[in-house]
Amino acid sequence: MQVIESIEKMQSMAISLRLEGHLIGFVPTMGCLHQGHLSLIDRAKNSSDKVIVSIFVNPTQFGPNEDFDRYPRLLKEDLKLCEEAGVDIVFCPSMNDMYPEGYSTYVDEVFVGKDLCGISRPNFFRGVSTICVKLFNLVRPDFSYFGKKDAQQCAVIKKVVNDLNIATEIIECETVREPDGLAMSSRNRYLTEAQRADALAISKALFHAKDMVANGADNADRIIAEITHELAKFRRIRIIYVQVVDSVSMKAVRTILPKKTIVCVAAWVDEVRLIDNIEL
Ligand code: AMP
Repeated sequence: MQVIESIEKMQSMAISLRLEGHLIGFVPTMGCLHQGHLSLIDRAKNSSDKVIVSIFVNPTQFGPNEDFDRYPRLLKEDLKLCEEAGVDIVFCPSMNDMYPEGYSTYVDEVFVGKDLCGISRPNFFRGVSTICVKLFNLVRPDFSYFGKKDAQQCAVIKKVVNDLNIATEIIECETVREPDGLAMSSRNRYLTEAQRADALAISKALFHAKDMVANGADNADRIIAEITHELAKFRRIRIIYVQVVDSVSMKAVRTILPKKTIVCVAAWVDEVRLIDNIEL
């Protein structure tokens, strides 16, 4: 496995891999890798012949009062996991190389990323879109793998790639959960045991909503009311949003259409912000 830090080296490596006819699969991450990330890598290994993982904690997607400084950085452990997973190249550029002094260009998708997390984290999708486009330009992937755990992020990146004619195919991968249902996330590390116990209510409420729909419920308001009611029972949880949306446009819908509608939740568990969603 090669570890590349230099932008120029990554660019020339990507060009030569393509010239040699390799299919490049790309998994962008912020590190602190867990089974969710590894499932994306596995997917990439199955459909590409060179797998590139990027590890970069992207400052432009964090708000001023968010957890950029304390976001877990575990490069040594991450490199070991990548090696074991059969990754070919890990790209871990420096902050200064990605955003040198005077950097001033951003990618801003203004429709799909407008609501939900777009409201509570105003610059988040602009930061995510900007770093992804930069990484796509450097890595030149045929396929790029994203987790449905971050459903709005998937939808925004798909829109950006389509709108800007970027030649990579976005592959969406299923959410990997802990055995009890909690969606895996690097931020789960922040949770104390008591917070972890309350956090479980989020996935439980989503599974309950899915059951309701399986049993005939098709009204979004009913689903939202039920999830809100369930989460309100937990004193550490504060809801940021509960919304039933179309999974492509990420706009609210009133009636649930099977396979096209997801319900998204963002909530604080004390000071830890978690998101999750499920297809209805
Ligand atoms: P992050 O390092 O949190 O930026 O995530 C990198 C990629 O891993 C994103 O495409 C995420 O959606 C994906 N990811 C994170 N958690 C999970 C999970 N539990 N299941 C599947 N994919 C995930």
